[in-house]
Parts: sequence; structure tokens; C-alpha cells
Amino acid sequence: SVALELSSISKSYDGRRDAVKSVSLEVNHGEFLVLLGPSGSGKSTILRSIAGIERIASGRIDIFGKTVASTTMHTPPEARGISMVFQDYALWPHMSVLDNVAFALKRNKVDSKTRAIKAQETLSRVGLGDKGARFPSELSGGEQQRVALARALVGHSGLILFDEPLSNLDADLRERLRIEIATLTRESGATAVYITHDQSEAFALADKVGVLSRGELVQIGAPEDIYLSP
Ligand code: ADP
Ligand code: ADP
Repeated sequence: SVALELSSISKSYDGRRDAVKSVSLEVNHGEFLVLLGPSGSGKSTILRSIAGIERIASGRIDIFGKTVASTTMHTPPEARGISMVFQDYALWPHMSVLDNVAFALKRNKVDSKTRAIKAQETLSRVGLGDKGARFPSELSGGEQQRVALARALVGHSGLILFDEPLSNLDADLRERLRIEIATLTRESGATAVYITHDQSEAFALADKVGVLSRGELVQIGAPEDIYLSP
């Protein structure tokens, strides 16, 4: 079944040129979509529109069968049931690593002990089982990114949006975390939309790749069906 549907969405910032031009696509339940394109091709505008941080000018966005945005309506981000992973982690500096992850479970109405147990389990899965008591500033960049990933994944089987989460990390770590992201996201049953300008990252992660050029979706399909000119 379809988890996310974009129907001909468009957006311009200055009225001159469309940042996103009539983009339509579908992502099925449990599918991992990567949007690939150079800087300025419209990736983050699409991601922010799905998140509800940005308003679309026209078209429609449906998440799990519910319209969240159209030309005339706009549901706020917190009502869309999604979580996001950014390149700058956006961890809460005044909370321990464990609390950062556990806090994401607050809206699930589980008691604090259960939250702590689930958070601890998820931290262990990203290799940070012994770092729960630390504060984010005491961790390396790669470790902080894993905390952000754990926070997005804990108790979440909805839609997860990834905004170039690995672009600030060194090549080695990028490759290792790439595998973790793919594995953990699939295990959790979540549906993912991941944006990047890195071709090898896109092809390593994706069930489906969408290629953007100047705000238009120029190709979409299984990685083996995508052709990129050199
Ligand atoms: P990225 O390539 O990672 O999307 P950008 O450099 O395009 O990063 O954008 C960084 C920030 O600057 C974003 O928050 C974006 O909204 C904003 N931005 C990008 N282009 C413009 C622009 N032409 N005018 C104003 N803000 C912009
Ligand atoms: P990408 O994520 O692929 O780098 P963006 O969605 O950030 O692309 O940008 C698409 C286009 O919209 C670019 O031309 C960019 O300069 C412009 N843009 C993005 N954010 C803003 C903004 N806040 N204000 C004005 N123009 C923007």
C-alpha cells in the first residue's frame, strides 16, 4: 500500500523560477526512497514540504492515506506523524543521550520506565549501549549522528525523512552508518525518504531512486533502472 504520495507538487520562493516543479511520486509502505540531485535541484524543498516546514504552492501531499497539504490546506509538522534526521543532528544538549532517545517516545503514551528500556535497546542497536549517560557534546560527530538515528527509529514505524544525514562525516564512517541506516530502518518497518547529492550513497541505500534536476523529477525507479550521464 502507498505510504506517501506527492501529486504534482510545486513551490517557488521568489516567483521567478520554480524550486520544485510539478513533482509526482509514490512511496510504498516499508520502501526506502532516495531523492538524488545536485545542490539546488529541489531536494530539501521537497523534504521540507513533506515535513510541513514548507508550504506547497500547488499539488497535494498524502501521508498514510490522509491529505496533509494541498493548495488550500496545510497540516502542521507535529500532526503529520513523521520523524526527521538532519545532518546537524539537532540533539537536545541539556539531556543525556538516553533521554534524547527516550523523549521521542513521549507521544506514544508509554510510562517512563518502558521508555528508558526501549531507548536503551535502540541505543545498543546503533552501537551506543554504553553511552546513554553521556551528554551529546561528549560524543563524536558519528556517535551523535547515531543518536539522532536512534531517536528517529525508536518505536517508530511510520515515515522517516533523512536530510543528508551523513554529509558532515568522514568517508569511512559514512559507509558504516549508511549500512546501519538501511538495516535499522528496514527492521523497524518504517518508510523512508532520504535526500543526498552522493550517487554511491543513493544507490547503496535505495529501493527506489528519484533523480531531480532543476526542480523536476526526471527519473524514478529501481536503482538498476536509473541511468546517470557521466
Ligand atoms: P543544501 O544544498 O544542503 O540544500 P543550501 O545551501 O541550498 O543547502 O541551503 C542552505 C539554506 O539556505 C537552506 O535553509 C535554504 O532554505 C536556504 N537557501 C538556499 N538557497 C537560498 C536562496 N536562494 N535564498 C535564500 N535562502 C536560500
Ligand atoms: P537542494 O536541496 O537540492 O540543494 P533546495 O530545495 O535547497 O535544493 O533549493 C531549490 C532551489 O530553491 C534553489 O534554486 C535554491 O536556491 C532555492 N531556495 C531554496 N530555499 C530557498 C529559500 N529559503 N529562499 C529562496 N530560495 C530558496
